[in-house]
Amino acid sequence: MPTVAVLGAGVVGLTTAVKILEAGYDVVVIAQFFPGDPRDIRYTSNFAGANHSSMAGDDKRQFKLDMDTFEVVWKMSEPDSPTANLFMRTPIIHYFHEPMEKPDPLAGVMPEYRNLRPDELRVGATSGTYFMSVTFDVWRYLPWLYSQVLLKGGRVVRAQVQHINQVLEGAFCEKPDALVICAGIGARTLGGVEDENVFPIRGQTVLIHAPWIKSCMGAKHLPGVTSYVIPRPCGDVILGGTWLYDDWYPKPREETHDSILEGAIKLVPELAPPEVFASGRTPTAEDLKPLIVEAGCGLRPGRKGGVRLERDTVEVPNAGGKKVPIVFNYGHGGQGYQSSWGSAMEAVRLLKEGISFVVMNEVDGLKISE
Ligand SMILES: Cc1cc2nc3c(=O)[nH]c(=O)nc-3n(C[C@H](O)[C@H](O)[C@H](O)COP(=O)(O)OP(=O)(O)OC[C@H]3O[C@@H](n4cnc5c(N)ncnc54)[C@H](O)[C@@H]3O)c2cc1C
Repeated sequence: MPTVAVLGAGVVGLTTAVKILEAGYDVVVIAQFFPGDPRDIRYTSNFAGANHSSMAGDDKRQFKLDMDTFEVVWKMSEPDSPTANLFMRTPIIHYFHEPMEKPDPLAGVMPEYRNLRPDELRVGATSGTYFMSVTFDVWRYLPWLYSQVLLKGGRVVRAQVQHINQVLEGAFCEKPDALVICAGIGARTLGGVEDENVFPIRGQTVLIHAPWIKSCMGAKHLPGVTSYVIPRPCGDVILGGTWLYDDWYPKPREETHDSILEGAIKLVPELAPPEVFASGRTPTAEDLKPLIVEAGCGLRPGRKGGVRLERDTVEVPNAGGKKVPIVFNYGHGGQGYQSSWGSAMEAVRLLKEGISFVVMNEVDGLKISE
């Protein structure tokens, strides 16, 4: 059975490892960070909201990855499913301050999709949409994915890889027959990949505990503020946030922290504890401070050109010219959860194609020219 090394144990690497194991390969996941580790700026998956609300727009490939993922997670979140508690099925409500220029690709696709009535609009919005989707309970979901890798027979190795040749030459496990790169923002500096198209999209958030919140809300085009609220089944709620290109600053900024709280309470006054909301006084950002669990800041792995999902071959060092397939699955930006299963399925297709390509060429004694 061919051994496949998966480099990366974020939501993308672990989901990809699960699908490769299900396809019948032997898998070793190699990563510096795993679920349950203390939060670190080099491990984005810990900082996500996360909900499924496709932003693919006209990008048909991304839309398919998102929708293939939605099919999986909608099923996993069915009330009778053993994985239901990893998700919360919630309404996702977007408020817009400018007319939508193009038809929304989510119309007619997402459950219960409709436009908001004028009496449902808030914060000066002129239109809005409503549909049902899921939020992921990130800190439960990642360990669950990790457990699936182990239960299906996958192996794991903790290592900081400087160059892919270290993996190919067998420094961390036996020499793999194929390599899959799911290094997120790390793909920019990982030797042998060094993808300069990868850049950070910094997202700062505040996590509060407010189990009475049961809907996601977001206001796009609100002047000066991008506010969103994403509840998780454990009762925590992520308040966002920022979307800053090429900003590498790894810690929450104090002034941003305050503006996130102010934007959130303006958009969703119901975030204040029910007694404050019921008292009739206007809730303020101060009412949220006792609810704070932690401030967060993550670097979404952006990539010019979008997700890198393709295959190639690489030469194994000191192996007489032997080549093995390499599959790239990184650069998911703000969409790593909502496209995780779709991109993992595509990565497996590319992997199978790559393995048969190499085997075919070995059998034929041909020189691989890719
Ligand atoms: C504030 C915020 C909100 C978000 N909200 C959403 C949302 O609502 N929905 C959504 O779908 N997405 C959301 N995202 C985006 C999502 O979090 C990312 O797209 C996703 O986590 C990327 O996962 P990944 O596995 O590619 O990368 P990571 O989680 O960063 O994992 C990378 C892995 O590669 C390993 N690695 C990298 N380089 C090396 C190396 N050289 N040696 C060894 N190991 C290495 C790391 O240790 C780690 O295990 C959000 C992100 C942020 C910051």
